[in-house]
Amino acid sequence: MQRGKLIVVSAPSGCGKGTILKEILKDPKFYYSVSATTRKPREGEQDGVHYRFLERADFEERIRADAFLEYAEYCGNYYGTLSAPIEEQRNAGRHVILEIEVQGAMQIRKLCPDAVFVFIAPPSPEVLRERLTGRGTESPDVIEARVAQAEKELSCKEAYDYCIINDVLADAIADLRAIVRSEELKIEKMD
Ligand code: 5GP
Repeated sequence: MQRGKLIVVSAPSGCGKGTILKEILKDPKFYYSVSATTRKPREGEQDGVHYRFLERADFEERIRADAFLEYAEYCGNYYGTLSAPIEEQRNAGRHVILEIEVQGAMQIRKLCPDAVFVFIAPPSPEVLRERLTGRGTESPDVIEARVAQAEKELSCKEAYDYCIINDVLADAIADLRAIVRSEELKIEKMD
């Protein structure tokens, strides 16, 4: 059995990555790594499904206990990938998806050179602002902070292996499936 891939997906918030991943994750060969965060849950978000919502002191305790493969501070909150399930799932042949921001992705690049890095970009900053406003979950200053953050993140896309522009959703989903398929077919080179 082929070992599962580690697929790192980054996208500024509001790029539609949640919708793309929801579709991809209908296939049981994928495993979504549920991150821990100190951000408060948004409406509809469930603990253990979307995130493990932790108090700051608890998160910091786990940093000290080395429980995270990577973690980062983003817009004032901690976000981190708990290491435990990842190896287990990959050894069982499932592709593990990490949905993380750029600083965390760069940590994974150093730790797991065989990971696949996919950046999802909005068609334009205007479209991103419209999508964030339409979602209605954030206040106007949080939206502006996130648009500014997105512009910063877009300048990091060269550090990724693939970039998907999420203009037409069905195309973006097909693009991600094509990337995973080509990674499955790649010949593993011995050093
Ligand atoms: P949001 O608050 O919109 O759910 O997430 C904010 C950002 O944190 C997103 O870019 C998301 O991909 C990123 N993020 C979520 N989980 C993790 C994680 O475990 N580690 C890192 N480094 N970033 C994460």
